[in-house]
Amino acid sequence: MLGSPIDVFFPRRCAACGRGPWPFCPDCHGALIPLVPPMCARCGAPLARAAATCAGCPPAPIAAARAAFAFEGPARSAVHRLKFSGWRTVAKALGEAMAAVNAFEPEAVTWVPLSRARLAERGYDQARALALVVARRLAVPARPLLVRSEATLPQARRAAAERRLAMRGAFRPAPRAAAPSRVLLVDDVLTTGATAAACADALVEAGAADVGLLVAARALREHRPDTAYTGSGSRPGLWLPGDMPR
Ligand SMILES: [Zn+2]
Ligand SMILES: [Zn+2]
Repeated sequence: MLGSPIDVFFPRRCAACGRGPWPFCPDCHGALIPLVPPMCARCGAPLARAAATCAGCPPAPIAAARAAFAFEGPARSAVHRLKFSGWRTVAKALGEAMAAVNAFEPEAVTWVPLSRARLAERGYDQARALALVVARRLAVPARPLLVRSEATLPQARRAAAERRLAMRGAFRPAPRAAAPSRVLLVDDVLTTGATAAACADALVEAGAADVGLLVAARALREHRPDTAYTGSGSRPGLWLPGDMPR
């Protein structure tokens, strides 16, 4: 039996496993790893003790960064679902979680764009989808301030410094884009920060003074202290998927 026609295109099922109830079913919700204090004040990385900065801080000109979840388990599945199936309900589940952890006051939200070729092939820009949800929640405009050059080399096997070099020049200000002073850059995943740094450089070129970064999930290479999260993902003050407006 089908539900409403909307549900056929945008099924309101668990953003991670696609089976249980939206936004995250109890099993997936319990396995999510939210990034919560104690953390790095600048980039939001979980730390054993709160600190102003940390070794994993994204490079300047990114003033501040936050991620809703560690890029593991259900968060990883949800990002994959967002990227390859384009469910808008997944963008909504992740985008609301992102807005809840944001620590940067922007005048506009923008996103890490796909190249035109990739967009044509996939038909869906996952970072834009997240940015629209975040902008709406923060009550600021979402603006396409960046364009991506067509030829960006594969990233997977590169070291961090090498990635940053390779990404330089991969983004430029969108034609006639005038960025406001404070821009929040949205992406799905933060790994080395090379992509975000290249985007931030282009945003500064477009007129921004401060760039904040907000992602759905962050790949954490170092050991996470046990104090940084709970397996059940439900510490006091945390965003809970059940609290989301429907
Ligand atoms: Zn699930
Ligand atoms: Zn940091």
